[in-house]
Amino acid sequence: MPDDKTNSWEVRAAAHTLYGFTDLPTIAERGTVVLTGGHGPYVRDVHGREYLDANSGLWNMVAGFDHPGLTACAQEQYARFPGYHAFFGRMSDRTVELSEKLVEVSPFEQGRVFYTNSGSEANDTLVKMLWFLNAAEGQPERRKILTRVNGYHGVTVVSASMTGKPYNSVFGLPLPGFLHLSCPHYWRNGAEGETEAAFTARMAAELEAVIAREGAETIAAFVAEPVMGAGGVIVPSEGYFQAVAPILKKHGIPLVSDEVICGFGRTGARWGCEQYGFMPDAIISSKNLTAGFFPMGAVILGPELADRLQRASEAIEEFPHGFTASGHPVGCAIALKAIEVILDGADGEAPLIENVRRLTPGFEAGMAKLAEHPNIGEWRGKGLMGALEAVADKASKTPFPGTLSVSERIANTCTDHGLICRPLGQSVVLCPPFIMTDAQMAEMFEKLGAALTKVFDEVA
Ligand SMILES: *Cc1c(COP(=O)(O)O)cnc(C)c1O
Repeated sequence: MPDDKTNSWEVRAAAHTLYGFTDLPTIAERGTVVLTGGHGPYVRDVHGREYLDANSGLWNMVAGFDHPGLTACAQEQYARFPGYHAFFGRMSDRTVELSEKLVEVSPFEQGRVFYTNSGSEANDTLVKMLWFLNAAEGQPERRKILTRVNGYHGVTVVSASMTGKPYNSVFGLPLPGFLHLSCPHYWRNGAEGETEAAFTARMAAELEAVIAREGAETIAAFVAEPVMGAGGVIVPSEGYFQAVAPILKKHGIPLVSDEVICGFGRTGARWGCEQYGFMPDAIISSKNLTAGFFPMGAVILGPELADRLQRASEAIEEFPHGFTASGHPVGCAIALKAIEVILDGADGEAPLIENVRRLTPGFEAGMAKLAEHPNIGEWRGKGLMGALEAVADKASKTPFPGTLSVSERIANTCTDHGLICRPLGQSVVLCPPFIMTDAQMAEMFEKLGAALTKVFDEVA
């Protein structure tokens, strides 16, 4: 609740900080939640209230908010070498080690890594790499980028252009040459009487048609999240990647997997592309890469793109791109530790990815139980990411009127009861940290279930 004392944290937050992706009327009414610390999957606000964060911060704090191994490794690296760049033929030893590790755990037999500070910058970097190497190879017109409606790839000018969300029109985006294909969400977009297989075939036919219309020689890449995250946890229709990958291959168009959310275990597999059985030409990573303990992103190029970029760079003697903090030694040390914690198990603990797999059946059962509610149209998800979509009428899938803000009300009710989850369109999204216990999972479903009942009683 907003505190009317003029020097409250809520008033001070609103006075001097600009909000990103925040509903300002809600802030005016409810105030800002100002957080000061955390323990395991819980965060604590300045009033001492605790919240179970069923969103892992912003998908990324998968090891919780006080992981001792990650904290210790950051402290050690700060003491040893607190910062350096990766320009002019210099880089830190930790950067060398992280790249080796990333290629080792990637689906690629060989590859090269470029570091950024965020997922948005990683997508921007990828696009610049492709524009650069296509031009060097005598194909300067090969610049168009294909993504999907509802795909989320970031907020910089290029990555926002890749993002398939209507809100970017307020910026006059997308830029020309960024094309959005249909969202492969069968439940919502399947036609009357259309089977899932026919829907997938329709998605593939659309891709073929767009390539024919635009000309394959003008298309630099197709970039896709294995499961769309910020689009509302959209699981691809059955066989989707098996249908699109061969079309892209036939036309020589690189397939890039944006694994910023799916990478490092979120779906229960190491990578989303492994979960869905396709081989990309490059991977975009961020978020889980450092378990949220450092801002960092990475472009991991498979062998073919890595070789082509190397040749193009040699031709003009450099690849003129990089961020001051690319390959930051502290970020790299933390990422090495996070990968160990998630995939291998560190300090005598089991790998967190095993806990994701162990928790998944209970997570699915809890979601399926909530989806029995007459005002939940669909639950969907993979591994420890899921969404419940609210509907006014289940049979016709009719959404509630936007003016009722149903998903916001559910999320706000949860917050009042000590649970953080995220409204996204008409859905409520859950992506709990990988360290959750069974008791915490039960607490999450109990609080969410109570909030659903309360809000649907009010609006239905
Ligand atoms: C979050 C996200 C990004 C952007 O990452 P930032 O670090 O916020 O710039 C890109 N792609 C996907 C799939 C994401 O979820």
